Amino acid sequence: MEAPVNLRMTKQRQVILDELRKMHSHPTADEMYRLLRRRLPKISLGTVYRNLEVLSDCGLIQKIEVAGTQKRFDGNASHHYHVRCNRCSRLEDVYVDVDAEMNRKVSRLTEYDIAQHRMEFVGICPTCKAGARRDDFD
Ligand SMILES: [Zn+2]
Ligand SMILES: [Zn+2]
Repeated sequence: MEAPVNLRMTKQRQVILDELRKMHSHPTADEMYRLLRRRLPKISLGTVYRNLEVLSDCGLIQKIEVAGTQKRFDGNASHHYHVRCNRCSRLEDVYVDVDAEMNRKVSRLTEYDIAQHRMEFVGICPTCKAGARRDDFD
């Protein structure tokens, strides 16, 4: 009855997870959809979106929400910071130690039990700084 449907969903979910883990670009659901269609021609954007939400609810991936931009997804579920380019909107990982003391400070200040914090640095990436044009693909 329901088993084959679930099984099918699980396979798709696994493919989505595998593909996302290979990427370091923090894609949007649309970008994931375009990529996944090559492996799963019948997949719909809704399915991709739903699976990304489920995977992030389970803590297997991270959802990155920035006001005014499209939601992005991160196959690296460990706690890390990000840097975003103001000009081309690229989003990359930053490998600095996560500041655990910050959680305690904010917890004292707000009386919240702080689980974690997210930090995003914003600036101009090296490519944009060099004035290189990214719209030619030769
Ligand atoms: Zn840039
Ligand atoms: Zn990341």
